[in-house]
Amino acid sequence: MPGGVSSPVRAFGSVKGEPPFVARGRGATITDVDGKTYVDLVCSWGPLILGHAHPAVIDAVERAARDGLSFGATCAAEVELAEALLSRFPFCDKVRFVSTGTEAVMSAVRVARGFTGRSRILKFDGCYHGHSDALLVKGGSGLATFGTPSSAGVPAEFTALTDVLPLDDDQALKQYFAERGKELAVALIEPLPANVGLLKQRPEFLALLRKLTREHGALLLFDEVISGLRVAPGGMSEISGTQPDLVTLGKIVGGGMPVGAYLARGEIMDKVAPLGPVYQAGTLSGNPVAMAAGLATLRELARPGAYQRLETLGAALQAQFERVLAKREVVATVERQGSILWISMQKGPAPRAYHLIDGSAAKVYGELHPRLLAHGLWAAPSYYEVAFVSLAHDESHLKQAAEALDRSLSELGR
Ligand SMILES: *Cc1c(COP(=O)(O)O)cnc(C)c1O
Repeated sequence: MPGGVSSPVRAFGSVKGEPPFVARGRGATITDVDGKTYVDLVCSWGPLILGHAHPAVIDAVERAARDGLSFGATCAAEVELAEALLSRFPFCDKVRFVSTGTEAVMSAVRVARGFTGRSRILKFDGCYHGHSDALLVKGGSGLATFGTPSSAGVPAEFTALTDVLPLDDDQALKQYFAERGKELAVALIEPLPANVGLLKQRPEFLALLRKLTREHGALLLFDEVISGLRVAPGGMSEISGTQPDLVTLGKIVGGGMPVGAYLARGEIMDKVAPLGPVYQAGTLSGNPVAMAAGLATLRELARPGAYQRLETLGAALQAQFERVLAKREVVATVERQGSILWISMQKGPAPRAYHLIDGSAAKVYGELHPRLLAHGLWAAPSYYEVAFVSLAHDESHLKQAAEALDRSLSELGR
């Protein structure tokens, strides 16, 4: 296994120390093969909004598994999960299940191109949309740069139709649409960018993007693989005041099993095979075990007070972190949306665009992280990754997390 891992950030490349091997997770905690237990603020990078091994999810998976792991044919659980998703994104009429967030976005972009008959796509610097070729693109220094591949193995020709703009820049957006808006198939954005820190956008920026895409006959895609089902049942599509044309989901939608999904109104989704000419398929898509895990997760989230509880827990952890950072005189702010948090270790208002993040903080975090682990806090092994609180966390877990941060900072001489 290259780097000893199945996904690169797990290898601790940007922090000191060796990654522990995990034996099991229970609720808000994770236990390594040496028997050390940690409070988990990674939660499998987002999917585990109920915590690890939630009884209702495990039960649903066990029951589904007994009837078979995959049929390669439609099953009832797919229909149920489709209905559950469409009720949360009521401006969408149809959904297609896939197995990862990467596939969901890659496929939704294909559908957008098929629907509009246009080729060009627009993304924003710092937003992550999975690892498909056309989306593995970073922005250059100028405005509206042609995307340059951010990975070896992606030919520049493959990203030549992917344009990249900075987040939070109204002027650049207007200029881009004036120049190329009529060629644009789809603009993609994480409406709550959470893959390089937490870059909360102004609602006005999302609204401007909505207005300009509509005026130029382009589609708007909200990549809600992280935010969907987490910050509200209907994600940022519900709370931002802006409705996109397409939504992509992942992470929580599979409750810890591999599921992705893309949703849109009927006239767009009817372009997808077998109804339409846009091809997209998957051997294990919509398999009954993964569907069962997703459904069980959504059922728990539908209980009264679930989202209020996530908000309460998130706010409590933010307050505790803020108290520790102030006590240790660390220049930082704690950014938060619901149960997603990020400590921005720089002066002044938290950044809203990737190029405004002070990268030197990553070095400090690299020193901090091994100490957090030693004090029993399972935090993301990268400065740029956010923290997630789950419904399995309680006040005592949050206190442990804040204490781990406090002791770690003190060891660093703060
Ligand atoms: C995680 C993520 C993806 C990719 O999902 P995978 O299941 O890892 O392929 C895409 N978009 C966003 C916003 C994500 O956070």
